[in-house]
Amino acid sequence: MSGPAFSPDLLLRRVRRGLGGPEVDVRVANGTVIGIEVTGAAPGGAEVIDGHGGTLLPGLRDAHVHLSQWAAALQRVDLAATGSAVEAAEVMRRKHSESGLSAGQVFIGFGFRDGLWPDAPHKDLLQRVLPQVPAVLISQDLHCAWFSPAALRLVDVDHPTGLLREADCFEALRRLPEASADETDGWAIEAANRAAALGVTEITDFEFTDSTVVWARRAQRNGRLPIRVRAAIRPGGMAEAIERGQRTGAPVPGTDALVTVGPCKTLMDGSLNTRTAFCHDPYPGVVDPLEARGLLTQDPDELVSLMRTAAQHGLSFAVHAIGDLANTLALDCFQAAGVGGRIEHAQLVSERDLPRFAELGVIAGVQPSHAVEDRDVADLQWNSRTDRAYPYASLLAAGATLEFGSDAPVSRLDPWNAIAAAVTRTSGGRPPWHGEQAIGVADAISASTGGRLTPSVGDRADLVLLAQDPTEVAAEDLAQMNVLATIVDGRISHRAE
Ligand SMILES: [Zn+2]
Repeated sequence: MSGPAFSPDLLLRRVRRGLGGPEVDVRVANGTVIGIEVTGAAPGGAEVIDGHGGTLLPGLRDAHVHLSQWAAALQRVDLAATGSAVEAAEVMRRKHSESGLSAGQVFIGFGFRDGLWPDAPHKDLLQRVLPQVPAVLISQDLHCAWFSPAALRLVDVDHPTGLLREADCFEALRRLPEASADETDGWAIEAANRAAALGVTEITDFEFTDSTVVWARRAQRNGRLPIRVRAAIRPGGMAEAIERGQRTGAPVPGTDALVTVGPCKTLMDGSLNTRTAFCHDPYPGVVDPLEARGLLTQDPDELVSLMRTAAQHGLSFAVHAIGDLANTLALDCFQAAGVGGRIEHAQLVSERDLPRFAELGVIAGVQPSHAVEDRDVADLQWNSRTDRAYPYASLLAAGATLEFGSDAPVSRLDPWNAIAAAVTRTSGGRPPWHGEQAIGVADAISASTGGRLTPSVGDRADLVLLAQDPTEVAAEDLAQMNVLATIVDGRISHRAE
């Protein structure tokens, strides 16, 4: 058997190693970085990528995704920019002809605002452009949906215009056939390929399904997955995972070890927008004293015993906690159980809880795009407290480990979106929101790579090659970094044309 040094699977020529790093050649074999040499010195490999001086970084991770929901959202035609019913119908017609779908398959659009349109949605309009297609256009606020005649027949509804509102709309949408496992698996692979094209080499999937089984099936169908998946155990799924002998971090059989068992998940509270995030202080204007501070959705004592049982069986915990009191209680639970783990979201954090993340070994899984997208709601509902909302600089200063995610479909699955939001604390030309909580580019990238900035010999070969060094572009351009190649386990999962 010849040594791997003489038979590299992959050679990355003329790449800069890490942020501001020197130009080198990087050799990869058997899924591992086996050599880093001065450019030109390395022998030719089976496959060569010329980096032209681009920057090579450890692969990016999205630490919080609901992949099936994100994949389904990607299938819907985006109608947000349509200015009339006629235009929306035309967009649907064009997208349908490009989609390759058969006439009988349900075709869904999303995001129109008919309150701004000069004309009214009508089923006859859809009948003209998509005669046999069960087309359903769902409004931005989800409170009305525009059905084609074929779609009305499918859900067995007789309606004069096809524009269904409120209860009629919800009921009709419920009657639409659910996508088959075949279809959703196809969409999931497509979404994973899109993620790879952005430099993502790993996601943590918090979908509320039996994720290890679902991803093993997808791996089998696709031959090989384009990204790694940490498949979290759904809330309430701990006993089942223990019965199966699953341990956090262990590879799932039949997936080339690309799928591993993730943490168990539980939800401590609700969300900011619905004012159910559980807080020390009351929300402004909420009258019911039982709901004034939000909702606690997990009994802390029960969680401590779940954490202990999980730890005995090699499983860790990820606790969804958004309000500051939910975060305090989640940290208390980790402390009482004597285990580390993760808190997902950590959107509002008390000053005195900041150092506890590091002390207790609790990773803060955060979504910087939410800071930018939710700023107005936060200013309203957490007024006078927003100086410690999405407090990334404070968490870092207190020694906490941050891991970035998107919570897709809540935000786009796009790590550059998160990195840009963390660095600029804004989007769309608005002034930064609590700019004192902005963090540096290197810290933001580190929060997206599992804490690593420089590829080294012996690393598993999960890598991303960028056309430019992210520390050398303008902050507002971080959201549109040009990804030349993505490598997962030593294999190319994306390469720019
Ligand atoms: Zn989530």
